Amino acid sequence: MAGIFSKIVTGEIPSYKIAENDKFFAFLDINPLAEGHTLVIPKQEIDYIFDIPADQLGEMMQFAQKIAKGIEKVVPCKKIGVAVLGLEVPHAHIHLVPINSVYDIDFKREKLKLSEERFRELVLLISNHITL
Ligand code: AMP
Repeated sequence: MAGIFSKIVTGEIPSYKIAENDKFFAFLDINPLAEGHTLVIPKQEIDYIFDIPADQLGEMMQFAQKIAKGIEKVVPCKKIGVAVLGLEVPHAHIHLVPINSVYDIDFKREKLKLSEERFRELVLLISNHITL
């Protein structure tokens, strides 16, 4: 059975989509640590990131790079932090989180509560700054 992120890829479950190509998909994390917190996933449902074939894992990071470049143009930050946990959703995903300090990427922190309007605004702003 398809998992939640596969359903996001097909559109069965709505998401704040940032970008996609034939192999990868990027969307805003619904419980963000920071504005612009984005998840990058392979369209193929593989649980553990290091089970992704090496060539595809390389491509996934290159896709994530393009997304990160878009986020950093929109959200003021020192860098885009990168994290992989995968403890909740068994579909490999890279977290891209705008950070100014280590505290900004502490997953134990209380998450931001953004309005639907703000999520939509961020989607428009970030996706307009991404060239795949
Ligand atoms: P983890 O598997 O530990 O990396 O955590 C899963 C992440 O996916 C969390 O940051 C959640 O907020 C995020 N998440 C779960 N469901 C959704 C969804 N439907 N749309 C966007 N983000 C989600």
